[in-house]
Amino acid sequence: MVGKNRGILYLCATPIGNLEDITLRVLQTLREADLVAAEDTRRTRRLLSHYDIHTPITSYHEHNRRRQGEYLLERLAGGDMVALVSDAGTPGISDPGEDLVREAVNRGIPVVPLPGPSALLAALVVSGLNVERFVFEGFLPAKGSGRTRRLAELVGESRTVVLYEAPHRVLKTLHDLIETLGDRRACAARELTKLHEELLRDTLSGLQEHFTTQPPRGEFVLVIEGVSNESDKTAELWAATPPEEHVRLLMQDGLAANEAIKRVARLRNLPRRELYKKIHVSE
Ligand code: SAM
Repeated sequence: MVGKNRGILYLCATPIGNLEDITLRVLQTLREADLVAAEDTRRTRRLLSHYDIHTPITSYHEHNRRRQGEYLLERLAGGDMVALVSDAGTPGISDPGEDLVREAVNRGIPVVPLPGPSALLAALVVSGLNVERFVFEGFLPAKGSGRTRRLAELVGESRTVVLYEAPHRVLKTLHDLIETLGDRRACAARELTKLHEELLRDTLSGLQEHFTTQPPRGEFVLVIEGVSNESDKTAELWAATPPEEHVRLLMQDGLAANEAIKRVARLRNLPRRELYKKIHVSE
């Protein structure tokens, strides 16, 4: 190993399914490193043994990131070459790698990215939706006001939106997206690069229907179309329409009063109770 490589933290992108999706540079770094820090040691051990690499592995994950982070930073400060590997894909994207990078940067430790697979980009480019401008939301908070706020922030978003989601939450998230954003074109990218890779391009409600009959399994990325110019115009029109009128129009379209009030309250970020009062008072 050449001396100039000492004390560097390498961010190694690894396959998100297909073991062949790995760069020559990552393989060489994993081979030459003093230590591989892995989010999932079992998965990384399988990868390393597939390529006949015998570098020692230590764990670095959500639950030990403080203690292990400190240990890794000490090893780096002492001149060791550390290769960071996430569960899959690019370390730092929706995993604790971000913390280690920040702390290494704070301490003046050199960090080198070794680019490669990432579920986010793989799903985005294959979605068939606009990729010129996009926004990555990672995992939405599972519940509570954090979730409501993040969903509300997406209402006027004109860029394509990319979300990670666990299989058991896919239906709930599709439901909440439809409620908040209305029906939009979307793509569910499932098990990318794996044997059962599946790409479903439909509307949010079409995806909801599909996964109601075929329960979601495996790993998912959801890609959702941003609000279009046409919808921008619609949004302007809505802005000029009083909320109670908005509710009435939705009811004329066949929505029950409760549902219509709920939807308008979400879309316009208004307290539901205030809307109920308005509707009641004017009737
Ligand atoms: N750092 C990783 C990256 O760059 O892709 C992402 C880590 S995040 C903890 C894991 C999430 O990525 C999964 O829950 C899923 O949403 C998505 N993901 C990972 N592998 C995938 C695959 N093969 N197909 C679809 N989504 C995948």
